[in-house]
Amino acid sequence: GRPVPIARPRASRKATADVRAEISYVMIKPDGVQRGLVGNIISRFENKGFQLKALKLFQTPKDVAEEHYKDLKEKPFYPKLVDYIISGPVVCMVWEGDGVVASARKMIGATRPLEAEPGTIRGDFAIQVGRNIVHGSDSPENGERETAIWFKEGELMSWDRTMTPWLVE
Ligand code: ADP
Repeated sequence: GRPVPIARPRASRKATADVRAEISYVMIKPDGVQRGLVGNIISRFENKGFQLKALKLFQTPKDVAEEHYKDLKEKPFYPKLVDYIISGPVVCMVWEGDGVVASARKMIGATRPLEAEPGTIRGDFAIQVGRNIVHGSDSPENGERETAIWFKEGELMSWDRTMTPWLVE
């Protein structure tokens, strides 16, 4: 028979703001993109069961990188960090699900890759803190804050995922 459309994109975040679950802003940094790890990293979040809300390849303007990392402004590595983030395209994502912020941090692993457990993204793929491949929000509040920095309202999708009942009771 004819395929049945199951994804119903809705442009507005407002429409579902009151029922939206926790979100995390996850970003594959320029080293992750250059090293061809985009598919591997996205697969981990898909396989885990979190729901993709937004996704784009993006060349970061300097002021966006500075806003994202504004809490680290006084750190000695801040200028290098900003230069690193704007050094090439990044993959920006928003993932949704109960507990997604803490779970994504676990999946990403410790900030210093040599301390990150094998099986985590940084533990599997990285050596240095200044080339640690991926970002994940450290709190639900920052999940919202960072999502608003990197995405416009219309770039977030609310869609019914048919397999959700197989992931959550
Ligand atoms: P995380 O990304 O794990 O939340 P932080 O918020 O502490 O870690 O730092 C943000 C980012 O700044 C790190 O992911 C890393 O890219 C960079 N960074 C942190 N510490 C250092 C450091 N000592 N030298 C260079 N870069 C650093």
